[in-house]
Amino acid sequence: MAEIMVLGGGIAGISAAWYARNAGSKAVIFEAKDRWGGLLDHFTVDGFRFDNAVHFAFSSNEEYRKVLELTDHFTHKPEPYNYEQGRWLKHPVQNNLYPLPAEDKVKAIKSFIERPEQTEDPNYREWLGQQFGEVIAGRFPARYTEKYWTVPAERLSTHWIGNRLYRPTLDEVLFGAMTDRTPLTYYLQEMFYPKQGGFRSFLNPLVDGLDIRTGKKAVRIDPLRRSIDFSDGSVEYFEHLVSSIPLPELAEMTEGTPKAVKEAAATLWATSVALVSLGFNCPQAGDYLWFYIYDHDIRPARVHAPYRKSPDNVPAGFSSLQFEIYFSRYSPLKKTPEELTEHVIEAVGRMGLASPADISVRDCRVLPYANVVFDRGMTARRDFVLEHMRGLGILPVGRFGLWDYLWSDQSFLSGKSVESLPGVI
Ligand SMILES: Cc1cc2nc3c(=O)[nH]c(=O)nc-3n(C[C@H](O)[C@H](O)[C@H](O)COP(=O)(O)OP(=O)(O)OC[C@H]3O[C@@H](n4cnc5c(N)ncnc54)[C@H](O)[C@@H]3O)c2cc1C
Repeated sequence: MAEIMVLGGGIAGISAAWYARNAGSKAVIFEAKDRWGGLLDHFTVDGFRFDNAVHFAFSSNEEYRKVLELTDHFTHKPEPYNYEQGRWLKHPVQNNLYPLPAEDKVKAIKSFIERPEQTEDPNYREWLGQQFGEVIAGRFPARYTEKYWTVPAERLSTHWIGNRLYRPTLDEVLFGAMTDRTPLTYYLQEMFYPKQGGFRSFLNPLVDGLDIRTGKKAVRIDPLRRSIDFSDGSVEYFEHLVSSIPLPELAEMTEGTPKAVKEAAATLWATSVALVSLGFNCPQAGDYLWFYIYDHDIRPARVHAPYRKSPDNVPAGFSSLQFEIYFSRYSPLKKTPEELTEHVIEAVGRMGLASPADISVRDCRVLPYANVVFDRGMTARRDFVLEHMRGLGILPVGRFGLWDYLWSDQSFLSGKSVESLPGVI
């Protein structure tokens, strides 16, 4: 019997097993796919490496930073851009309006000055208007929300925002409207990426010596017998169970889950992302490490340049871009992978990123779980499900296990909660 059984071999599951082992306990990871890494894994097409959407590592947590230090890495300065109607604006737009026509700037600044008072518990759309004024809110973040979160901002709560959206002073808005000599106001000052092997390399020091069994997809959990059935017909028994698999799936596959818990779990939903990844046989594609697209006639919301993260991600002298197209149960993907790829290639030319004739590699694939969505009331429904699972002795961890908007460092730190299991420390 494994002392601790961990479902899912992403960073949260790996971290749980790592902390358990460091505390002298035995842990075994069961991962559905044939490789560990989850969202932090990558795929390679004809010598071009593309991460599974993940971009950079960063953290203020000392413990996680020590793990990152074990891998030789580049340090990048976060200087993203925004594309709207043929213009490139520094990020964040609210204090970088400089490239806009003068009439638009005047309207935006007036509306910033006249923005409404903050109210108690606003929805995300109201919150945006209260922070930035109606003109900036409506033209930029609210439109982006429909692409990234796949629903209108009115449907979202504000629980997930944290420090992600910069709230400028009037002076900063004015300054950024008059000049492009604005300071970096992104919520991070530096970001890290391995020199070799893609983001996943950061996990190598953690997996060393861990017992990870791949190709093991859990399909049924019996909390009374303390057993798990896997899709290959095998059965394992556990003393403690840690789960990083999506919470709604955990509730569905656990024997005896009450109807009310199953119903609450069924209301939890996440966006999915279609990744269109392109390799170019020219040394430069686009000018930026990453950027956001506001126009709705260009489907991707965000674009990253893997070759700028590390030249090890491309054959020498080549370049690459990865486009993120979000969809969900409320905004289904209506195009085939071929149609999406053709659409992105047309956008590459239209946005002046590179010549479509230079494309040598193309790939389109879907990640079913991207971002958990904070629609209004979600946290209460999620907590109800989590409480039930914890009551059964199951310890949820990770972005989808805890059903939270966690960066990789937070997913890593969630694994540390194994130390709370009886007998682990
Ligand atoms: C588009 C995008 C961009 C991001 N960019 C960044 C970034 O720049 N920086 C950053 O720090 N974070 C970023 N993140 C967040 C980061 O990717 C996550 O926080 C982290 O990877 C989550 O790790 P996890 O282990 O919780 O989940 P996952 O990586 O999803 O791992 C869960 C694992 O469980 C496995 N599994 C699922 N079901 C079963 C089953 N039934 N049985 C067994 N195994 C199963 C899955 O195959 C998977 O391997 C980004 C996320 C997205 C979606």
